[in-house]
Amino acid sequence: MSNPLLADFATLFATPPFHLITPDHFLPAIQSSIRQAKEEINTIKAQALPTFENTIEALDRSGKKLGVISAIFFNLNSAETNDQIQKLARKISPLLTEHANDILLDQELFHRVAQVFEQKENLKLSPEQHTLLEKTYKSFVRNGAKLNPEQAAELRKIDQQLAQLSLKFGENVLAETNKFVHFVENETDLEGLPEGAKEAAAQIAEEKGQPGKWAFTLDYPSYIPALTYAKNRELRKTLFLAFNTKASKGDMLDNQETIKNIVNLRHQRAELLGYPSHAHFVLEERMAKSPQAVQEFLRSLLEKARPKGEADVREVADFAEKLDGIDSLQRWDFAYYSELLKREKYALDDELLRPYFQLEKVIEGVFKTSEKLYGLTFSPNSQIPVYHKDVTAYEVKNQKNEHVAVFYADFFPRPGKRNGAWMTSYKGQYRENGMDSRPHISIVCNFTKPTKTKPSLLTFQEVTTLFHEFGHALHGMLASGTYESLSGTSVYWDFVELPSQIFENWCYEKECLDLFARHFQTGATIPADLIEKIKNAANFQQGYQTLRQISFGLLDMAYHSQNPSQITDLSAFESQIMSQTDLLPKVCGTMVSTSFSHIFQGGYSSGYYSYKWAEVLDADAFELFQEKGIFDPETAQAFQNHILSAGGSEHPLELYKRFRGREPKPDALLKRAGLLAS
Ligand SMILES: [Zn+2]
Repeated sequence: MSNPLLADFATLFATPPFHLITPDHFLPAIQSSIRQAKEEINTIKAQALPTFENTIEALDRSGKKLGVISAIFFNLNSAETNDQIQKLARKISPLLTEHANDILLDQELFHRVAQVFEQKENLKLSPEQHTLLEKTYKSFVRNGAKLNPEQAAELRKIDQQLAQLSLKFGENVLAETNKFVHFVENETDLEGLPEGAKEAAAQIAEEKGQPGKWAFTLDYPSYIPALTYAKNRELRKTLFLAFNTKASKGDMLDNQETIKNIVNLRHQRAELLGYPSHAHFVLEERMAKSPQAVQEFLRSLLEKARPKGEADVREVADFAEKLDGIDSLQRWDFAYYSELLKREKYALDDELLRPYFQLEKVIEGVFKTSEKLYGLTFSPNSQIPVYHKDVTAYEVKNQKNEHVAVFYADFFPRPGKRNGAWMTSYKGQYRENGMDSRPHISIVCNFTKPTKTKPSLLTFQEVTTLFHEFGHALHGMLASGTYESLSGTSVYWDFVELPSQIFENWCYEKECLDLFARHFQTGATIPADLIEKIKNAANFQQGYQTLRQISFGLLDMAYHSQNPSQITDLSAFESQIMSQTDLLPKVCGTMVSTSFSHIFQGGYSSGYYSYKWAEVLDADAFELFQEKGIFDPETAQAFQNHILSAGGSEHPLELYKRFRGREPKPDALLKRAGLLAS
């Protein structure tokens, strides 16, 4: 029996033959392609003298089949999974980790890479080749290839401990979240809550064995509406305190010791590898480059955003005092009065906008926008196999009618698809033997579904999400590199959101909205005053929100950019850092760190600043389009050449400067967010 995954794909554009693939095919195909990849590595090692071509380039070319099969598998596990695929993932993931480690821990292979690296000045490499050599060499070194056997063993031990500790951190947060429930007996205590939130609260109470009552938990869908809409101040306070004391109560589920262990082990790991701190280690492979640069970035933004942040809080405090006689605005009051204030100021709700954003028209708008900017055209092609009937496959061409990419769009929720929206690829772009192998790109979303009587009408947030993911997709589709590992979205982490976030800016421009935002019944274009309202509402409390993001970024850097062995009292340490950004009175006993999963459980350590960093980039880059015209062909061509097509071929700062003519400045973001003193 032949395995369709292992054969050459006989489909149009050699896309995955989804119609032939069953879950049974994956494990044997992965095992077989791991063997094939290992043979390719052995061939590299069997060459005589190591050269750039027979070692560095050959490594980039190796494991291609494994890459394609893994991409199909994990993309399906996110977009169209089932019990069988999930079970398989638990088998396949460790196989791939082991294979990756086998390569990175191979001393013989590293020795060859290092030999090429040492001659790099004499090799006459192109900038792209230089980047590939640097990246390949660093990937071994950063994984411990230069350590002696005892140090290498210590590194493995630290990695194992860190894996255990971040698991434990997450488990504690989850257990604390699940443990808490707060019952409400009188409906009058629910005043202000939308009907949907009330129904959900009644359902939770019933599930918890107390039908007829209402209950709230610390899950976002229960907690956020309560804090935002509940008029009852005591209810808000109770929930706020429970939420912000998670895993910090000195019991079995307390995370404070875990945090100390994590940051100290990360520091030891960095020192072992020759870096002054964990942040130095992480930032070596980021556009920001160093902890000092991140600190300076956050501090300069803080200084500029603070006046508006203070004004935002004052406005809410005054509003709360006038409305309800609140004389000291507390943290559990902020979301509630902000929501009321926002409604009073903007009178903008989703239902007002939805009729102008019919999904089919928005997609057409996205396509038209990318045609005007980059000359791309999209035609659905039913010959390209898809993994679900809701998926549409498009053939993408450029102005010269050349094939650019295959683009899959998968828009509606269904069981088996995870939440959220994302861009991914089934195959990256690369050049080999003079052939440009074009990419297969996909975006997966969970948009409002059409009904029998109504088409799919998107909220404005869904519209910006579609533009965001499509921006990532352009980065993938317009890729034009030699090496797959430097192509498309394979760029530094704090640079990858530039193409996606910049594309969102077009949604706020009348010239762009006029292309597609038409009432689904009357055909009328979206009124100019509605666009103005959307823009103003988007800037609501930007000062406060910016300070909040900066506070998390500073806390992250404080834990990771110096020797943490001095940190004994976690609560005092956190208070001291947060006092730089606090705009509301500190609540005794609460803590951010003990449930700061981004940096202690997920992979965001020394990376939280990236959210704001990417905003600075997108606002600064879009400013050029605003100056020259949002569809200016020259600016679009420059953005395509230097950013979208360049991938990770050079350091992002160099690429950016080539597009913008200078380094990025925060002024455009401050202006867009209304943070510049006027
Ligand atoms: Zn994104």
